[in-house]
Amino acid sequence: MRKVKAAIAIENTTKRYSNKAQETILALDNVSLHVPQGAFIGLLGPNGAGKSTLINILGGISLKTSGRVAIWDRDIDIDPRNASAAIGIVPQEIYMDNYFTPHAMLELTAGLYGLKKSERWNDTLLEQLGLADKKHVYARALSGGMKRRLMVAKALVHRPPVLVLDEPTAGVDLILRKHLWEFVKEMHANGTTILLTTHYLEEAEALCEKIAIIDQGKIVAYDKTSSLLKRLATKSLIVLHRKKTEKNYSQNLILPKHTRIVATTKNSIELCYNPQKVAIAQLLDILQKNLDIVDITTKEPSLEEVFLQITQKELN
Ligand code: ADP
Ligand code: MG
Repeated sequence: MRKVKAAIAIENTTKRYSNKAQETILALDNVSLHVPQGAFIGLLGPNGAGKSTLINILGGISLKTSGRVAIWDRDIDIDPRNASAAIGIVPQEIYMDNYFTPHAMLELTAGLYGLKKSERWNDTLLEQLGLADKKHVYARALSGGMKRRLMVAKALVHRPPVLVLDEPTAGVDLILRKHLWEFVKEMHANGTTILLTTHYLEEAEALCEKIAIIDQGKIVAYDKTSSLLKRLATKSLIVLHRKKTEKNYSQNLILPKHTRIVATTKNSIELCYNPQKVAIAQLLDILQKNLDIVDITTKEPSLEEVFLQITQKELN
């Protein structure tokens, strides 16, 4: 069988920053990650985990301290020009010249890549991203959402086989999020390899075939989305009960293993449990015996819960 080639190959890559106080920050700690050609991969991690650092290294914006990185089989140190020709990056921070129009910005980018007029597809891109009618409007007059879409268009001017998006939907409203999702899904269906970083588990779940989780500069999990979610099976339960007068009453609750209290107030408890290991009837029984329950609701676990579980393995 032919081995699937890597769209992105990151091997033993480390990045150290030194801050103003001359302290060293280990932003990436010996990271290895392979993104196969044609894949749709999610890179998830809490703030400060190293996601943007990793992506900025791919884009040549940040220099790695050590390790090896190749894009579409082109080593970024040996063949930087062809490596960067193979990748389009939508950075987390939007930066653009306010006095450029989308049309001018894309034309300039196409020029920098040395694209002939006949090779350009800027108008199609603007159209697909809902910016056709803003083509000649100054960037300063575009909304945040439009600027974000323009950054996506800019990343695709040279038709790279790999598209990387760094938290494209952070702080973006639901409609635009959905629109971006659809666009990216279509790019993927047409053969583009996608690497997406996000804060939203729900987003990664809906879009990505595989998910890599990064925490404190280390890849702590890399698995098929379905297997990862199964492994991470965790449920949240919010129990409303009649007010308790004694402080720390929750500490006296003897809960089953694989269950953890997340938060308490005088009349509520939020807990997390692993449904594959905890019998819900038993859990409810304990709660009922100890609390005068008013209401129970369930909730999807937050990404933070998932990270806690992976990094501390508390519920496993
Ligand atoms: P993420 O994108 O996952 O939120 P980053 O890659 O931005 O994480 O940051 C990883 C770590 O590196 C953090 O501790 C951050 O403070 C640090 N860091 C990022 N950029 C710089 C920089 N230019 N100089 C010094 N430290 C940095
Ligand atoms: Mg970031």
